[in-house]
Amino acid sequence: MTVADQDRAREAARSILREFGISTPPVPIERIIKSRKIVLQYAPLDEDLSGMAYIKDGIGIIGVNALHHPNRQRFSAAHELAHHVLHAPDIRQAVHVDKGIRILFRDDVSALGTEPMEIEANAFASELLIPGELLAAALEGSGVDIEDEAAVEAVARRFRVSPAAMRFRLSRF
Ligand SMILES: [Zn+2]
Repeated sequence: MTVADQDRAREAARSILREFGISTPPVPIERIIKSRKIVLQYAPLDEDLSGMAYIKDGIGIIGVNALHHPNRQRFSAAHELAHHVLHAPDIRQAVHVDKGIRILFRDDVSALGTEPMEIEANAFASELLIPGELLAAALEGSGVDIEDEAAVEAVARRFRVSPAAMRFRLSRF
């Protein structure tokens, strides 16, 4: 089992942010995905499925669970984009299906959360949707108390991510 390379994942995300000249939140994840000629599909999936990534006949495809909250869908889309950017050889061989990406935000170690590919995909998605510089600007040097739910939610809304995703990002900021 290989070790997750989170630095490589974050750098890949930062490279995309630079390419698109993103300077204010929210990050246009749909536009980024479409510009890479990846087909983005929304479909009602089982509640525990967040999304999937695969390559069929040379075409990259991302599927997102349309039944989830829109902000959660954005994270799922970014997570699946990570698999296309970082793990193309793997998803060419088999459809990659993600079950409940949200469990990765819990502190306990889940089977999914320990998979190097998943750790990398979350690091990429977190960096892409909540770029460090934009987060620093949003916090205006004052910081935010992770325990302060209202404050975390307010920042999360600006980036159009779930409070859980924002808490995850802030814990590593
Ligand atoms: Zn995944």
